[in-house]
Amino acid sequence: MMGKSHFVISTGVTLSAMSLLGYEITIPAIAVAAVSSLLPDIDEPNSLLVRTALPESLLRLLQVALIGAGIYLYFAGIAEPPWNIALALLVGSVSFLPGRRLRHLFMLLIALALFAFAEAYDPWNYIAACMLVVASVVPHRGLTHTLYAVAGWGALLYFVSLEMESGDSLWIAGGVSYALHLLADSLTQRGITPLPPLPFKIRMKLMSTGSKKGSAVENVFMLLTLALVVYVFILRPQTM
Ligand SMILES: [Zn+2]
Repeated sequence: MMGKSHFVISTGVTLSAMSLLGYEITIPAIAVAAVSSLLPDIDEPNSLLVRTALPESLLRLLQVALIGAGIYLYFAGIAEPPWNIALALLVGSVSFLPGRRLRHLFMLLIALALFAFAEAYDPWNYIAACMLVVASVVPHRGLTHTLYAVAGWGALLYFVSLEMESGDSLWIAGGVSYALHLLADSLTQRGITPLPPLPFKIRMKLMSTGSKKGSAVENVFMLLTLALVVYVFILRPQTM
């Protein structure tokens, strides 16, 4: 399923359900629901979240900076010849790594920097850094599409909520939105394997990604979600 559909469906249904159940919809809750709707696909090289965290233009800029650093190291006289050439080539050649590798490397470096300076912006920096590490090391559609990941993400947000004394809305928003992403993926041809190493797979084959019928089903789900959101947040008689 496409990132856009996940974003609309998971976020929309989560916030509507929470509102119907009487939870206050705060800005942090909206943000957490939105990020959680895209989070499971963070291991996909082209996921919306990864592209937002490290856009193509920034990647190009970093590539140019690496080549620049290589040239600088050659002339700076930090190492004796021929080691200056070796050092320059080593640093410069990193920028010629294939796109996905390079992206992962940069994400790891940003994560390291976040860890180093995380204390100042506790706890969100730690969470962002963990997400980047996960994004750069977990295999394609592996761990993130399991019930362990739902439980882990929910628990992480729960403890953050405790620390921030922000009530239940954060971890409920994040957990439900994440779980809805997995539910939506289990409707696809590809399905999910919720409890590895158990081979048990949920796959309803309601839509195959990329096919005409698949995107039609996706659009229907998105329209239903929008209808729900309009009902809950605009048309529903307010009780206050
Ligand atoms: Zn997914």
